[in-house]
Parts: sequence; C-alpha cells; structure tokens
Amino acid sequence: MQRAVTEPANTTSMAQHMKDTDILIIGGGMVGVTLALLLAREASLRITLVEAITLPALSPGEPLPYRPSFDARNTALSRKTVATYQELGLWDELQTHATPIHEIHVSERGHFGMARLVAHEENVESFGQVIENAWLGLVLLRALKTCANVTILDGVRLTALTPSPTQMTATLARGDEIFSLSAPLLVAADGAQSVSRTLLGIGATTTPYEQVALVTTVATHLPHDHIAFERFTEHGPIALLPLPDNRRSIVWTLPAGTEQPLIDCSDDEFLTALQSAFGKRAGRFVKTAKRFAYPLALTVAQAQALPRAVILGNAAHTLHPVAGQGFNLCLRDCLALTQRVLAAHREGRDTGTLALLRDYEDARLGDQHNVITFSDRLVRGFSNRTPGLTFARNAGMVTFDLLPAAKQALARYAMGLNQ
Ligand SMILES: Cc1cc2nc3c(=O)[nH]c(=O)nc-3n(C[C@H](O)[C@H](O)[C@H](O)COP(=O)(O)OP(=O)(O)OC[C@H]3O[C@@H](n4cnc5c(N)ncnc54)[C@H](O)[C@@H]3O)c2cc1C
Repeated sequence: MQRAVTEPANTTSMAQHMKDTDILIIGGGMVGVTLALLLAREASLRITLVEAITLPALSPGEPLPYRPSFDARNTALSRKTVATYQELGLWDELQTHATPIHEIHVSERGHFGMARLVAHEENVESFGQVIENAWLGLVLLRALKTCANVTILDGVRLTALTPSPTQMTATLARGDEIFSLSAPLLVAADGAQSVSRTLLGIGATTTPYEQVALVTTVATHLPHDHIAFERFTEHGPIALLPLPDNRRSIVWTLPAGTEQPLIDCSDDEFLTALQSAFGKRAGRFVKTAKRFAYPLALTVAQAQALPRAVILGNAAHTLHPVAGQGFNLCLRDCLALTQRVLAAHREGRDTGTLALLRDYEDARLGDQHNVITFSDRLVRGFSNRTPGLTFARNAGMVTFDLLPAAKQALARYAMGLNQ
C-alpha cells in the first residue's frame, strides 16, 4: 500500500475551533455504525454519522421491525467481534437471533480429505456466531439512536471534500438541499465503491475474481447441529452456516455469468443443483428462498491514513467472503482506531493528525495483510484443478485433521483471536 500524502505544515489547536462535530463518519453500514457506537462511549466526543440511505425510524420502547426471513444476508461473527458487542452491552439482544458455530467442516467435493474443527476440543463453547444482517443492523442502529452525543444524518449523500490544515469539510446533499459540515477527523466508511476515497484522491487496487457469490437461505431434512461447512467444488467454494430455526445460510461462489439460471429457476431446480454441487454431507436440501448475487473482487485502498481523514471498512479492503473474515477484520480496525482517537481526545490532543492516523494504519497493516492473503489464497488454491495439487490439498486436510497444534492455530484465527 503506497503513501502519497504528508502532514500540512500548520496543524495547530485551530482544530478545536470552527468545527461542527468532532468526528464525521461517512457511511452507516455495519462498520460506520459499529465505529460510532465504540466512539460514543466517550460522552464528551461529538460524532456525526452520514448515511445515503433513509434509515428506519425505530421508536424507543417499540419492538424492532424484524421478521425472521428466508432471504436475508448473514454474517459469521468471530469470538472477538461477539466480545466487542458484549462490551457494548448489545450481545444479549443480538443473540436472540444468532446461532453459535460448534464445528467447522472443510472438505473438497469428490475427494477424500476433510478437516474438522470442534469447539470443545479447542476449549471454547463456540467458534463464533452467525447472525442475520437485518437483525444486527436494527439492534446497532437503535442503540446508536439512544446515544446523546451522536447525530445521524440519513438520506444524506457526501458529494465533495475540502481539506484544510485543521479540519476536513464535507459537502453534503439531502435531495436539492446542499450543506457542509467540518470536523478535525473524517472517517470514510462508505463501502467498496467509496466516494470519499475517490474524493480524497486515494486509489484502490481491484482484482476481480471473475466470480459471484450466490446468497440464499435453505433448510435441510437434518438438523444443522451448529455445524458450519466449507465445501470446495469444481466451480468454487460453498459455505453453509447454521441459523436459528434450523435454517442455513448459503454462500455459493460461482464463475461470473453462470449465476442467472440459478436465480431464475424454480426452487426445486435450485435445490437439485445445490444438492448435486454440495453433496449429501448436510442432508437433503428441502427448502430455499430468493437468490441474490454479489460480484466478487479483492479491493485494497492504496493508503488508509491522510491528514484529517482515515479510510475504514470495505472502503479500505473488500475481501472474498469465502473465509467469513471481512467484517471481523473491519471490526478489529475499528477497535484500534477507537483506542487511538479516545486516548488523544482524553489528553486534549488533536484526533485528526497524520501522525495519529499513520500510527493506526501501521498497527493494522499486518493483520490486514494476513487476512487478505489467507482469504485470497484459499480461493485461488482451491480453484486450481491440477491433479497433483488436488491430491496434496486432500492429503493436507487429512494431515491437518490429525495435528492438534495446526488445528488450534487455525481455530484461533477463525475466532479472531490470533492476529
Ligand atoms: C456474500 C457475503 C458474505 C459475507 N459474509 C461475511 C461473514 O460471514 N463474516 C464477515 O466477517 N464478513 C462477511 N462479509 C463481509 C462484510 O459484509 C463486509 O465486510 C461489511 O459489510 C463491510 O461493511 P461496510 O460498512 O464497510 O460497507 P457497506 O456495508 O458497503 O456500507 C457502506 C455504507 O455507506 C453508504 N454510502 C455509500 N456512499 C455514500 C455517500 N456518498 N454518502 C453517504 N453514505 C454513503 C452506503 O449506503 C452504505 O450504507 C460478507 C460479504 C459478502 C458479500
């Protein structure tokens, strides 16, 4: 990742003046909202979150407008992520619609090898929890709405950025209304196609995988028993994750251009195709829902820290979902940034200096590099059909299954405990 920007000469306590808010977060996705919640624990810090989409009202005291669905996207949360939501006091509510993962089975369709990770063998109750994004989003958003020091501007789009030595000024649009807000620190958490990143002049390296993730929810005739499957097939990996009510989340990676027939076909035709690709390890697929496709690419920002701005979440790195690590990695970034920003704020220091933000970036590059490389190699390694390699992979999985130390290392990695 290259760096192009240097600290402006004049970074004085002027940052304390003329600002509209202390931290301006662009993007109210899972990352922007989680960061805002972490920062909001410091009551004297004023945070403004800008989100392009109009968010649900969520009146206090009323039940959340959630319906368990058969067509939502889900996220596997690592133990570290779960622990963070516990610290925020949100886990009790989140877990009412989350399911623990007790086992992870990794295998390759049509070959002998299989690796099995079992939570109690690693002395943990679970490897993490699977949660519907819809529920996670509602709980986080309602919690954020109760924070007195947070202003949420939804239905508002960032259109321009103007840096000065002491602050970043964002031009914002709500329909035809144009207004601006200034802060000593702007956090760009506006997703893979980040407008902020472009406006800040930061390039991104994008490597298309020529694959799509077909996402849906299914049921099988057998209980899921809290087992997560990662099944590598000749067309791409299929992840099957346990959900509440014995549903299972499917992320089926397919070559780009082959997904449409599987989206348009009848449910029965889809179940037959899935059964044939996945095999019978999870039982018979008996029910499915609407299918959605997400194009897959590895996108990495060429820099994350600038004077007065930092790039976070999918705007900084968008990964292949094969290993379920994208959001968990983003959350560890949020924790590291929060720690530095809160320390500076409490000591009366400027929170938006290049020195502070580079310190954050430097601290995070190693973990980011490891996770990005791990996910990328997993996709590419299992896409290679060379016969010798297929054998080596399967022999590797058998050996791995017999090696407690290797299993423990991978388990800790999957739980978000090893960086
Ligand atoms: C199929 C699939 C499965 C996945 N499964 C897992 C998993 O199991 N575990 C895991 O850890 N990760 C998983 N991930 C990754 C995870 O979903 C992402 O890491 C996470 O959603 C990133 O969130 P974000 O907030 O950075 O970006 P986004 O969710 O893209 O949010 C960006 C927000 O910014 C807003 N925005 C955009 N432009 C503007 C603008 N100009 N002005 C204002 N607002 C703007 C958007 O409306 C949006 O709300 C998966 C991803 C996919 C595709």
